[in-house]
Amino acid sequence: MKKDIHNLSKSTLIEEIPLACSDELAAVEFFERRRWGKNPCCVRCGSVDVHKMVDSKTGQRNKRYLWRCHDCKAQYTVRIGAVYEESRLPMRHWAYAFWRASTSKKGVAALEIQRDCQISYKSALFLMNRIRFAMAPENPIAEKLTGTVECDETYLGGKPRYKGISKRGRGTKKVPVFAAVERRGRIRRQVVADVCGKTLKGAIREMVDKQARIFTDDLPSYIGIGADFAGGHHTVAHSTKEYVRGDIHTNTAESSFALLKRGIMGIYHSVSKEYLHRYLWQFDFLWNARKLNDGERTEVAIKLAEGKRLMYKSPEAA
Ligand SMILES: [Zn+2]
Repeated sequence: MKKDIHNLSKSTLIEEIPLACSDELAAVEFFERRRWGKNPCCVRCGSVDVHKMVDSKTGQRNKRYLWRCHDCKAQYTVRIGAVYEESRLPMRHWAYAFWRASTSKKGVAALEIQRDCQISYKSALFLMNRIRFAMAPENPIAEKLTGTVECDETYLGGKPRYKGISKRGRGTKKVPVFAAVERRGRIRRQVVADVCGKTLKGAIREMVDKQARIFTDDLPSYIGIGADFAGGHHTVAHSTKEYVRGDIHTNTAESSFALLKRGIMGIYHSVSKEYLHRYLWQFDFLWNARKLNDGERTEVAIKLAEGKRLMYKSPEAA
């Protein structure tokens, strides 16, 4: 995410967004400025010899907000090649949903978008699912966490049938979620099948750089992970109520889970296992961009939407 932060021009997003949320032409031009700045170019061939198509009767912009390329003759709109490509929903609703999803620390429910934009619940869900997809890490393999990395696991969602049946949620519909978080840095979370050693150690190897120091509690599943990391594996013994030893603790990971649970339970009430990863994308994005102001964070989310398309046939398109 760093590269996007530094490339931002002085953001006027917060000044522009109210109009972009209510007027369709303003919304289209808002997204065009985010995408092309002062140098609009062809989405097919990259040529800058392009123009906005104009309605011959009215002299206004073409109703579909088309552009035309003089070199390859392509006609296109700002939607092409981004998460909104397959959508006919007005761009002003996209502007509103991006803004809300990027600035509501506890997340925003499709129901709110439905109410505020006066669209169907299905459309609101469509918007939010694509915005969450835009917020997903671009290249999770390349973006490994570095430095001191706290690792922890928790259970989310569902309601246990029998209270107290198991502290770890066994026998319930709760979904295990694993988090790796850099001290003062980025977070990555994922839904895991279980919390056994093979699964959790596999998740750590996938998300964390080999040079890192790994901090966990004393859950036996983590035993042996130190062998794979140059900084070693350091634990605090939660089982004997030891929570901090020197700089060793997992408080950052735990507070990230607390925030996630408040968000998911407060706004979404419950999230099924099947869809939970999308909410993790959204909450991880909010965490990773927490030092940006609201305008910058919205700007980054919109940037991430470019080059990402969610096809109807994709399993994510539900
Ligand atoms: Zn072209």
